[in-house]
Amino acid sequence: MIRFEDVSVTYDGATEPTVRAVDFEVPEGELVLLAGPSGVGKSTVLGAVGGLVPHFTGGTLRGRVTVAGRDTRTHKPRELADVVGTVGQDPLSHFVTDTVEDELAYGMESLGLPPDVMRRRVEETLDLLGLSDLRSRPIATLSGGQQQRVAIGSVLTPHPDVLVLDEPTSALDPAAAEEVLAVLQRLVHDLGTTVLMAEHRLERVIQYADQVVLLPAPGEAPLIGAPAEVMAV
Ligand code: ADP
Ligand code: ADP
Repeated sequence: MIRFEDVSVTYDGATEPTVRAVDFEVPEGELVLLAGPSGVGKSTVLGAVGGLVPHFTGGTLRGRVTVAGRDTRTHKPRELADVVGTVGQDPLSHFVTDTVEDELAYGMESLGLPPDVMRRRVEETLDLLGLSDLRSRPIATLSGGQQQRVAIGSVLTPHPDVLVLDEPTSALDPAAAEEVLAVLQRLVHDLGTTVLMAEHRLERVIQYADQVVLLPAPGEAPLIGAPAEVMAV
């Protein structure tokens, strides 16, 4: 579903690639953790999945990234909204509307869907994320965990095949983190969504993972395997 073929990313002005020779595949319907210490290039890899790298960040991407068969270099991030949903590291500062239901609808704006389809998708997404009772609430009045679920909902309404999340539980207390992880597990198991999630504190999320991709050190090739195998290294 996601395929990196010998991918290197060099940001403008940098002398060395930030990530080098990254080669891995994420099968359809799996939850895969992208692990490794801060600064190793996890956000860069996630950005390359949704086309943010290099379309928004600049720099040069060598090799090939495909998602559901689409080359992310030849498609702009907007053209990938129905394939990849990306929740970045600081989604709470990127809300564009006031209420929960408006934010979920906003995610579909570029798709040109009929109003009744959009309304139905907002309903089913509110339901999926346990946000139905909060639909009319200003997002700013919600807890961190609820806001994180709204951010996930806004990229789910286009029905992406792949959901990419950058440390989605790092700012949350354990109970709120559990809620978010339960939502992700439901997405994978019930809807067959493929999830790639960056995380540097593995102990919280490892039990949810089908596979782990470990970025060991700048420029080194990633290690891929079942959670127990990778943790043993
Ligand atoms: P991680 O998510 O593992 O913390 P990042 O991908 O955020 O790693 O960052 C890896 C390296 O790339 C860091 O040294 C960071 O400063 C650099 N970097 C990230 N984004 C950019 C950018 N847009 N322009 C230039 N350098 C960047
Ligand atoms: P429509 O265009 O009429 O909304 P779709 O073909 O896009 O219908 O959706 C088909 C099915 O996908 C529905 O049964 C819906 O419940 C389910 N679905 C719900 N949420 C998602 C999601 N995030 N990703 C993929 N499919 C989803």
